[in-house]
Amino acid sequence: MELYFDKLYIDGEFVNSHSKETYNVFSSIDEEFYAQIPMGSPDDVTGAVSAARRAFIDWSSRPIESRLEYLDRIREAIEKRSDEISEVITHEVGMPIGLSKKIQCGLALTDISETIQAARNVNLEERVGNSLIVREPIGVVGAITPWNYPLHQITAKLAPALAAGCCIVVKPASQAPISAIILAEIVNQIGLPPGVFNLIFGPGSEVGEEIVKSEDVDMISFTGSTNAGRAIGALAAKTVKRVTLELGGKSANIILDDADLDRAIGSALNACFLNSGQTCSALSRLLVPEKLVGEIEGRILAEIKKFVVGNPFEKGTRIGPLVSQVQQERVRRYIFSGIDDGAKLVLGGAEQPEGLSKGFYVKPTVFSKVTREMKIAQEEIFGPVLSILEYEDDEEAVELANETIYGLSGGVWSQDFDRALGLARKIRTGQVDINGGSFNPKAPFGGYKQSGSGRELGKYGLEEYFEIKAIQT
Ligand code: NDP
Repeated sequence: MELYFDKLYIDGEFVNSHSKETYNVFSSIDEEFYAQIPMGSPDDVTGAVSAARRAFIDWSSRPIESRLEYLDRIREAIEKRSDEISEVITHEVGMPIGLSKKIQCGLALTDISETIQAARNVNLEERVGNSLIVREPIGVVGAITPWNYPLHQITAKLAPALAAGCCIVVKPASQAPISAIILAEIVNQIGLPPGVFNLIFGPGSEVGEEIVKSEDVDMISFTGSTNAGRAIGALAAKTVKRVTLELGGKSANIILDDADLDRAIGSALNACFLNSGQTCSALSRLLVPEKLVGEIEGRILAEIKKFVVGNPFEKGTRIGPLVSQVQQERVRRYIFSGIDDGAKLVLGGAEQPEGLSKGFYVKPTVFSKVTREMKIAQEEIFGPVLSILEYEDDEEAVELANETIYGLSGGVWSQDFDRALGLARKIRTGQVDINGGSFNPKAPFGGYKQSGSGRELGKYGLEEYFEIKAIQT
């Protein structure tokens, strides 16, 4: 099936772009043409931002319950189209279809329902001494999002923005845009007031930057690479707008010497290979005690059989392709760099997996004997590549965990909970999972250090979209 889209969504209407440029999306599974979208231009940004500004006057002054009703209708409509949404994301990004339904679409639904709940409990006004403290929506929000969880990355921004009373201009990643188009259709169908949600496509370096520069945009919420985040932060500083950045990671999973290895190893592979490693919070470094390396390598070789690589629409597939050829080549370069730097290739490698002559596949790959200065120990790969590093004692484990520029996530495995909690407290990241503790959509998500600033999800995510005013009486 080939899909053609030729409109942006601005001011409550599907409109032509001011640019004649288009972008072709290729299926991650067979590399064939899959869809075409229109590219927007700086003029389209001006139109979208003005529409959002106009809409803000009415939207921000409505009672919060009225805004939450619209959000709930958006959620319901996403749920009705969840099969279609999961399928397009599987074509674009390569996540196996069952997981796509549960995670790609499921997270989008949860983002909205959790935000609605958080917004119902938010303290919009409180008294502090002689002051009345009032939370007011920050204004027009520019949301710039990546391709790895394309709908969730938008709803994690759209839901709190709209709940708080803000209007939004969304620019999704060009590689995985179709769920955003479905979202625009939904917003149109449920009758969200014009200008509250606007969708625009285009290259980040042109259209994205135009949104960031705009004096009429009060806040940028960006998710993506640390490089793009740095550029966006610098550009946004010129207009002193609020910026939240959810950036890359190189998160460490620490296996302590008393860990339950029966549980830890399967979970560790999953935490690295989910979505073929295209996850910012992937636990892509496994830190293990020197004396356990041999045993852990053996267990990984046994466990990997469960991680079947293949067509993400086929039953039993656990690891699909990557999003694009660019990404596939980038990940392969990292695999070569690990080999060149002298790490031990435990399994996988840079060749196309057997039996899959087409598609942007990369074999799940595990390196041991990785040392701290190697690229594969320091840089975000965003593919199914796990680096095993050895440590001598708990102190060195923490030191290694904290030794990258990133600070997004982490894991600790131990049968002694207090020992694990002690380490979790010392790891400088926004999240830590003890013994595979599961993802919590109510908990704040975001990074320390160069993994970003600000938090998303639940009541913590909602807070970012308010200004706080003090009125003295
Ligand atoms: P980018 O960070 O470059 O892109 C993410 C989004 O930002 C896209 O919508 C992109 O537009 C836009 N963008 C890029 N540069 C700018 C800019 N200067 N101003 C405004 N908007 C901009 O990710 P890539 O797709 O290039 O992926 C490269 C690497 O980034 C990956 O290999 C991975 O390591 C990392 N990454 C991390 C993510 C995370 O969640 N931590 C998510 C995605 C990638 P467009 O692409 O349409 O031009």
